Parts: sequence; C-alpha cells; structure tokens
Amino acid sequence: MTGYTTPALVLKRIDYGDHDLIISLFTLDRGKVSVIAKAAKKSVKRFGGILELFTALEAVIKPGRGKGLPVLQEAALLQPFTNIRSDVIRTAYASYWSELVNTWMEEYDRQDLIFQLLSHLLEELDRGGFGNRALSILFQIRFMALSGLAPNLSQCSRCGLDLARLGSREIYFSLAGGGIVCGECGSPGGRRVALSRGTLKQLAWIQRGSLGKALRLQFSQQALAEGLTLCEAFVPYHLGKEPKSLKFLRQMRQ
Ligand SMILES: [Zn+2]
Repeated sequence: MTGYTTPALVLKRIDYGDHDLIISLFTLDRGKVSVIAKAAKKSVKRFGGILELFTALEAVIKPGRGKGLPVLQEAALLQPFTNIRSDVIRTAYASYWSELVNTWMEEYDRQDLIFQLLSHLLEELDRGGFGNRALSILFQIRFMALSGLAPNLSQCSRCGLDLARLGSREIYFSLAGGGIVCGECGSPGGRRVALSRGTLKQLAWIQRGSLGKALRLQFSQQALAEGLTLCEAFVPYHLGKEPKSLKFLRQMRQ
C-alpha cells in the first residue's frame, strides 16, 4: 500500500504516549481508518492545532512500518466547524453522530454516501438555522437506511397494510420488529414508540427523498418530538448499547 491523499473527518482522537495522537478518521477514499499523528501533542506547529474533533481535513496518509498503524503525514484544514465546537449542544450532536459512524463502520469500508451525509450535516449544524433536533433526526434516519437498517415506516409489519389503508387505527413503532405495527394487530410487545401519521409521513419522506430537499422540510413540533424519541430509541437498540455521547446529549438537552 502506498500513501494517498483524501478528504477526511476527525471522528475520535486519543492521546498516545506523551507526544502522539491516535486519530480515527472517516476518509472519503478508504472509509474509517485509524492513524497515528506523530508529535501532534508535543508540537502544535506540527499540525497547526487542526486535528480537532469533527474537523474536515485533506489528509496525507502513509503506510506504517511493519504492523504499525498508518501515519498521518500531513493535514490541511478544509472546514474548522468552529461554531459547532463553541456550542455545547451542537458539540453533543456532532459527537453523537461521529460515535455512531465510528462504532458502526468497519475499517477500510468505503462509504461515499455516509461520508457525504456526515459532511453535509456537520456543515448545516455549523451554519445553524435548520434546527439541531431536525438535523439529528435526518442524520439518524438516513444513516440507518444507508447501513441497511432502514426502519419500515410505510406498512404494518404484521398485517402488511399500507399506512394509507390503516384508517383510524393507532400506530406504534416496534423496536424489536424494526417497523410500525397497527393497533388492530395488537400490542407489538417489548419497547414501542407511539407515532402520529404526520410524523410517519415526514420520516418516510426524509428516508427516501433527496438530502437537499430534506433540508428544506419544515418539521412540526410533534414530528420533532416523536421523531427524536423514535430515532434515539431505535439506534441504540440496534447498536446493542447506548452510546456514551447520547447520554451526554440527553443531559445537555435537559
Ligand atoms: Zn396490522
């Protein structure tokens, strides 16, 4: 493997010894890659202090020696996202999204669409204006769909009836079933989330529509509340654990 240059987002950074950092990068070219940034702690000059969380970089990565980690040779700043890092709530959302990507993705599994999603939504979060909660719903719904875990939001998972044909029946989301269940098919059992039709339509739309159009959508207060409850229950359920950053996000939001 020779060296390569790629756009990358900083997902995680860990101190390594007195001088170095180990950085989990989400690269466009190779997916998630752990690299060592030598002397990054010892000398600010070495990387100019740009190896911060969520930062978008142009990274030059060289293979490590023997079985050593690849080395971050150089990095140039593409986007600092300073508005995210100067705001604790925005930091909490960005940390949560980064942890999902970092936890869920395999190393060296190129994922252009997930890279595009995270880059775009970090830009929107930095710019402000769309609403942090709506952005987080958008991130989670589309991330799950791109990871092959799209929740079924269009028909009852038991009787198979489309949303439009469920009449006035109540609708729940079953975490274990990964989809909606109508009131007539009985209690889905286990953990469930009640959802209104308006919310379901919006969620189904942002799951399938273009990202550009989804970013122009107006969410009702009810859709924000229900959508966030659903996503933040469904995602940890499928991860099999509650991300640390989600606990932090919940504390910060209170
Ligand atoms: Zn049903």
